Amino acid sequence: MSKLLIIGCGGVASVAIQKCCQNSDVFSEICIASRTKSKCDALKAKLDGATKTVVTTARVDADNKDELVELIRACRPKAVLNVALPYQDLMIMDACLETGVDYIDTANYEPENTDDPKWRAIYEKRCKEAGFSAYFDYSWQWAYGERFQKAGITALLGSGFDPGVTSVFSAYALKHYFDEIHEIDILDCNGGDHGYPFATNFNPEINLREVSANGSYWDNGRWVETAPMEIKRVYDFPQVGKKDMYLLHHEEIESLAKNIPGVRRIRFFMTFGQSYLTHMRCLENVGMLSTSPVLFEGRPIVPIQFLKALLPDPASLGPRTKGKTNIGCIYKGIKDGREKTVYIYNVCDHQECYKEIGSQAISYTTGVPAMIGAALVVSGVWNKKGVFNIEEFDPDPFMEALNRFGLPWVVDENPATVE
Ligand code: NDP
Repeated sequence: MSKLLIIGCGGVASVAIQKCCQNSDVFSEICIASRTKSKCDALKAKLDGATKTVVTTARVDADNKDELVELIRACRPKAVLNVALPYQDLMIMDACLETGVDYIDTANYEPENTDDPKWRAIYEKRCKEAGFSAYFDYSWQWAYGERFQKAGITALLGSGFDPGVTSVFSAYALKHYFDEIHEIDILDCNGGDHGYPFATNFNPEINLREVSANGSYWDNGRWVETAPMEIKRVYDFPQVGKKDMYLLHHEEIESLAKNIPGVRRIRFFMTFGQSYLTHMRCLENVGMLSTSPVLFEGRPIVPIQFLKALLPDPASLGPRTKGKTNIGCIYKGIKDGREKTVYIYNVCDHQECYKEIGSQAISYTTGVPAMIGAALVVSGVWNKKGVFNIEEFDPDPFMEALNRFGLPWVVDENPATVE
């Protein structure tokens, strides 16, 4: 019986929170906190009476360490689940260190202001040394390893779907199906249709930054970078059908390259429809995806943040989105001296998610694993001290919980592969 402090009350958080309330045996109490307490209160009102979990709310600005520390001391949770934005990762980790509580998140650190000269100098050095130019990488959070270990606390990084479930699938494949994995293709397909010409399924700023950046993949010990959307493939996804998919850089490639011994190639593909790509290109060409402030009528505004205000709120897509997601990984490797290919995936239906919890499948497929990761940490099933990516823990209890909490998975030992 543990208490969890959840930072964030957006699309992903609202699923994680409702799933915690379905798991009252583990989460006897949760506190929901963000800068807008009224949103947390509205969610609490929906849950009160429908769960044995005691729900409280608070206001916190997670960009302010003193506020975070004060809240953690007042709330006394066993762990903090960070489902705010990647911008807040380091501040929340600092507050966890200061107060001695465990930390869980779903996305690696990324700075809000990519023009900050101090950050930029480190970033440019990393681009040259590592060979990929994404704004996010794990070095910032991995650097906390010794301090978390000394403090006797756990940081579980990347407990969403991708990263998260795809990383656990990889650990599970290695444990049960292979002696060595040589190639991993992570395939993220959203076959859902929300009926809008253009909308993003999760936070638009984070989503558009990721998708408009250069692609990259891991190949024999080094990064190969591509232009945005340069590599396209078509795949016939079980229960969804044929879709165009494009190679992107994605954060779990970095940690899987480190944690799956002997892996030679890791690629990440995401499906996009033509309408999405055309809108994105157009917005990019006119500067609307820029993260640098511009002066408008004497006031600085950040174009991508202004765009976010115009786009549909991802949380509002739930009732409109029809169709399914299919996210998983194809592994090639060796077992008992013979070559082998295995595909592990989950199919999730947007409308089923909406019926159960009032959200579309993208928030659902991220919020469920966030709850499961937090449950395994607070109940001590995952109990290593230091900073770890999710594939560094025993995958079995997580895989079992996926089946129990709404994300059942399939193992196909004879799948079509991606050329
Ligand atoms: P939303 O924009 O819907 O929600 C973000 C939440 O963070 C809001 O409730 C906001 O509340 C809160 N927040 C933002 N800034 C602060 C702050 N300074 N202090 C406290 N709270 C803050 O985002 P999503 O729910 O779509 O995404 C949440 C996270 O999940 C992101 O990090 C995203 O990258 C990650 N993600 C991971 C995926 C995966 O598979 N691993 C997939 C999809 C998303 P308020 O404004 O009230 O402060």
